[in-house]
Amino acid sequence: MIQTDIIIIGAGPVGLFTVFEAGLLKLKCHLIDSLPQAGGQCSEIYPKKPIYDIPGFPSVLAGELIDNLMEQAAPFKPGFTLGEAAMTIEKTADDKFIVTTVKGTKHEAPIVMIAGGLGVFEPRKPPIENLGAYEDKGVEYIIKDPTFYQDKRVVIAGGGDSALDWSIFLAERKIAKEVVLVHRSSSFRGHLDSVQKVIDMAGKGEIILVTEAEVTGIKGANNVEQIVITHQKDGEIIRNTDHFIPLFGLKPSLGPIADWGLEIDKNAIKVNTLDYSTNIPGIYAIGDVNTYENKLKLILCGFHEGTLAVQSAFARIHPDKKNILKYTTVNGVQGF
Ligand SMILES: Cc1cc2nc3c(=O)[nH]c(=O)nc-3n(C[C@H](O)[C@H](O)[C@H](O)COP(=O)(O)OP(=O)(O)OC[C@H]3O[C@@H](n4cnc5c(N)ncnc54)[C@H](O)[C@@H]3O)c2cc1C
Repeated sequence: MIQTDIIIIGAGPVGLFTVFEAGLLKLKCHLIDSLPQAGGQCSEIYPKKPIYDIPGFPSVLAGELIDNLMEQAAPFKPGFTLGEAAMTIEKTADDKFIVTTVKGTKHEAPIVMIAGGLGVFEPRKPPIENLGAYEDKGVEYIIKDPTFYQDKRVVIAGGGDSALDWSIFLAERKIAKEVVLVHRSSSFRGHLDSVQKVIDMAGKGEIILVTEAEVTGIKGANNVEQIVITHQKDGEIIRNTDHFIPLFGLKPSLGPIADWGLEIDKNAIKVNTLDYSTNIPGIYAIGDVNTYENKLKLILCGFHEGTLAVQSAFARIHPDKKNILKYTTVNGVQGF
């Protein structure tokens, strides 16, 4: 049994920063994440993309932000259970919680903070019969490291920001040797700037744009070698390619947390904005996973929520102690 003060479910940016804020109050944290690495969406979906709205950082790569948050949390020696989804929660006789993962690892603490973001990641997949047979053999649903596509032929499908941005990135930086963007409509859902840029690049032959068409088949002995594009007017087109990357977004799914008796509204956990507590005393929800009036799914908002939630957690754990706010500039950071 792993014992700690606060179990944090989700090691995304919000969970990681909460370790730091809890540490300042001398509360120890243990993080559980279903992914094999910390960082949540930042590490899993867009590690090489710059973020421009983290206070004090005019620009920071999402992966760098996670490295920095890990460094900032390090003095407080957080524990990690990675690669295991939190499945069940139960209450003990002495008012603690036991959270058990899919692999049976048990964690006990008086406080649980759910920082589960979008939940367990599940990409939306196109309905292609043999798609599963090519997963990790040329079919990827997330671009983790663009250099993986160096000098490769790539077919991206989708009409949102991800599909547009990655097509531009891989073609403009001359990473992939051929970028084909396939979209079922002639209009895109992404930012107008990105749409215009793709159209301009297609005009110059830097991106091959195929609209009003869908990828309907994959061929290859073992790995992806060809894809079948079905065009609404021209019928089937076969293209040789090394990679097929459908970027249709992630299906938000709270996963097992949805069955924990928490008040849920549209796949998110309802909280009291006083301290981001849920309807179950001792359980808090912070970051993208929660919902309240005027909620913004931004990293900086999650940082604020985690900071207030640990203050409330402190009061629950130490009802007889008064916590006085101390600036880090005055007190420094006293690790464990
Ligand atoms: C392409 C893209 C660009 C973005 N750009 C910006 C930007 O510029 N600025 C900005 O502020 N925000 C941006 N965002 C949003 C930002 O990434 C999110 O607001 C942020 O990641 C939320 O952090 P989080 O820690 O709440 O959740 P997440 O980052 O989603 O992390 C949650 C973690 O919880 C884990 N988890 C969930 N359920 C369980 C379970 N049952 N057991 C174990 N683990 C579980 C997940 O595996 C995940 O690792 C962007 C998002 C995307 C996709």
